[in-house]
Amino acid sequence: MKRRPARAPPSPRPPPSARRGGKAEGAPRLRGRELLARAARIRLLLLDVDGVLTDGRLWYGPEGEALKAFDVHDGHGLVLIRDRIQLGVVSGRPGKASEARLRELRFSHLVFGQRDKLAGYAQLAHLGLPDDAVAYMGDDVNDLPLLRRVGLSAAPADARPEVRAAVHFVAGAPGGRGAVRELCDLIARAQGIAVDPGR
Ligand SMILES: [Mg+2]
Repeated sequence: MKRRPARAPPSPRPPPSARRGGKAEGAPRLRGRELLARAARIRLLLLDVDGVLTDGRLWYGPEGEALKAFDVHDGHGLVLIRDRIQLGVVSGRPGKASEARLRELRFSHLVFGQRDKLAGYAQLAHLGLPDDAVAYMGDDVNDLPLLRRVGLSAAPADARPEVRAAVHFVAGAPGGRGAVRELCDLIARAQGIAVDPGR
């Protein structure tokens, strides 16, 4: 059987929302090489929790916030890159319902209860990373200051329109349902990290 010749990795396609020219039309969204060039510099991936790692719904019990649901495909994407990319969250809410999952995925940097995302980011200044080595995915307007600061900004498909209009990359999938996986795959592709064990 003939082996297929090695090919350069395909350029990321813009998400369906961009191809359709939806509400986020006019965004400074990047395509192809420019997006890959930004993704190639990333050493720290920061994520919002609610609406990014989860679908944004809050499950309450008698004692308050009780449960959050995480996507297994997002989790595997993070596992694939975590040996090369540091992982962190900057969340405006308490971490009780998500900390176990984040520890399991080996997130090293957990900033909870910080609605001012730039102030949360400042807590990671000791890492000494330049802004262009940091990626952040957020879904709501309080994420905008940090999204404008980092080298690679991203949003799930169901992020607020203002957020989708402001980021470099809009995932085709919504928060808590594969958006994080798309960002992981983009970073992996840009950095030559194998995501398909069969190739
Ligand atoms: Mg959020």
